[in-house]
Amino acid sequence: MRDKPAKLIDDCFIHDKDRLRHEEALAILMERLVPIVEPETISLANANNRVLAKSIIAPRNIPAFDNSAVDGYAYAASDFENTGGFFPLTARIAAGDTDKIEVPANTAARIFTGAKMPLGTDTVAMQEDCESHEQDGTGFIAIPPGLRLGANCRLSGEDVAAGSQVAGSGEVLLPQDLAAIASTGIADISVFKRLRIACVSTGNELLRPGETFQDGRVYDSNHFMISSLLERTGAKVTDLGIHPDSAEAINKALNDATTDHDVIVTTGGASKGEEDHLIDALDTLGKRHVWQLAIKPGRPMSFGQIGNTVIFVLPGNPVAAFVCFLLYVMPSLTRLSGAGWQTPRRFPIPAGFEIPSKKPDRREFLRGILEMDEQGKPILKKFQRDGSGLISGLREADGLIEVHEEVTKISTGDMLNFIPFSEFGLI
Ligand code: AMP
Ligand code: MG
Repeated sequence: MRDKPAKLIDDCFIHDKDRLRHEEALAILMERLVPIVEPETISLANANNRVLAKSIIAPRNIPAFDNSAVDGYAYAASDFENTGGFFPLTARIAAGDTDKIEVPANTAARIFTGAKMPLGTDTVAMQEDCESHEQDGTGFIAIPPGLRLGANCRLSGEDVAAGSQVAGSGEVLLPQDLAAIASTGIADISVFKRLRIACVSTGNELLRPGETFQDGRVYDSNHFMISSLLERTGAKVTDLGIHPDSAEAINKALNDATTDHDVIVTTGGASKGEEDHLIDALDTLGKRHVWQLAIKPGRPMSFGQIGNTVIFVLPGNPVAAFVCFLLYVMPSLTRLSGAGWQTPRRFPIPAGFEIPSKKPDRREFLRGILEMDEQGKPILKKFQRDGSGLISGLREADGLIEVHEEVTKISTGDMLNFIPFSEFGLI
């Protein structure tokens, strides 16, 4: 395991293509991005959603001892024939009892769920199936025939064997992982530090909600969308506010942000118009690795670095910013954070709509709505309108429909790739 964070390759990489294809852009991101955060030790109580930096190995068997899976009676299966299933009770053992209890041959023990199997027993009969009796002050139990050896008994190590891996380095810790680590008794674990990410909105037109509306101005939707997407990835997010469309202001904001951030995500001003300054800022301050993608929406998206700080420059249109975030920023962040690259799964589902003509040579991501047809089979609808400023389309959609470069039209019934938003943890 590394103790020092890795540095990104800081050469000048600029492709010579007009527009990069989706897969080419992903390949560049995958190749250039490495985990850039160092490990730290934290308490398991604070580990939800963190990225494990050092694998957890079971120090002992889990469960650590053979124990009963039910409330009932423990006995040795080989004694059944001798006793005819009629056993005197010679012990009682409940969950948490630590005494070493031995049960003599041809006798049984009262036992409860989770209690250690007493020595001399290997099988448990459920209390519901047994009949208890008393004879001369001694308790007896009648156990029904037909129980196999080891019935209702949980064996030591049947969940995890001593020395085997409970959770691996690079795993994002979900509640079930925390349960597994807790079952080892380990209280402090090594995780990767959270990425420190700055979120920057750019555009003269932007206002923050709460500010008085003026004709010609627009409220900053992107900040709330992008910063909450970032928070869901487990990052520590800094709101750097709104910056005007000025080269000076943007250069300063980006330069300042590099001192204490691993990643900067900007929205707006990403094209090459007179009022767009992000690309020039990136070229002046650092290196640009990707600009202009053969995709829709999101064509002006770019990616680069200033020293060891990674920058994602997203388009201003909210739909484009959202789609680019899910497709490019999210997997990049999981890789930078130590969790590895994660490719969202595509599910083939027939189209319940038509597109008579689509431009070839670019990949399109439509807002997809999952519906059921009359037979209860899933079909895909698309959000009716195409505009990449329509936030209502993002709200109505269940995921993205991916339409490949070579496709030039879609007919009803064509099989499409559907990427549910749940693939990005948005549920
Ligand atoms: P731009 O990428 O700067 O050319 O902006 C494209 C469109 O997105 C324009 O209509 C902007 O007003 C809009 N836009 C840019 N930034 C934001 C934002 N933070 N929130 C909402 N809309 C935005
Ligand atoms: Mg703008």
